[in-house]
Amino acid sequence: MQSDELIRELIERVAGEVGLIIFALKPKKGFTDEQIAIELGIEINDVRKALFALYEVGIAEYSRHRDDETGWMEYHWRINYERQIDVLEKELRKTKSKLEEKLESETSTMYYICQNGHVKVSYAEAMELNFMCPKCGVVLEYHDNSIAADKIREEIKKIEEMLNEMNN
Ligand SMILES: [Zn+2]
Repeated sequence: MQSDELIRELIERVAGEVGLIIFALKPKKGFTDEQIAIELGIEINDVRKALFALYEVGIAEYSRHRDDETGWMEYHWRINYERQIDVLEKELRKTKSKLEEKLESETSTMYYICQNGHVKVSYAEAMELNFMCPKCGVVLEYHDNSIAADKIREEIKKIEEMLNEMNN
């Protein structure tokens, strides 16, 4: 996948469609949330929500000024287009380490599950339950997590490939 595509995916995930629209605007200079709301015909609260979500991941930044006439605080926003690759890389690394943790817990613990989807417990917990589901009473079965682990490994590999491409 291209990094442009990944960036859009990331923005949509954190800031929704409104975030994506603002990002695609490519405003030449700073703007206030009010200006964007008027220009796009989107509720100002939705614009703010999206901008703060972008700020959380480091794609947007703001400064606050008091409007001399109204005395209200105004937010002046700017989109950090030049930081988008760094932000993307950071997010990918974060996702990768989460996946690695998940893989670790999948492969280091034996799980027992209720076939009706009620519980997923460790061996010790299953012992305490006498290997019976506390909700429906069926016998808990050993959960083969090799397929899940393989899937996680695949995802990690994909992310590693993306990171390699980005650094080339
Ligand atoms: Zn059950």
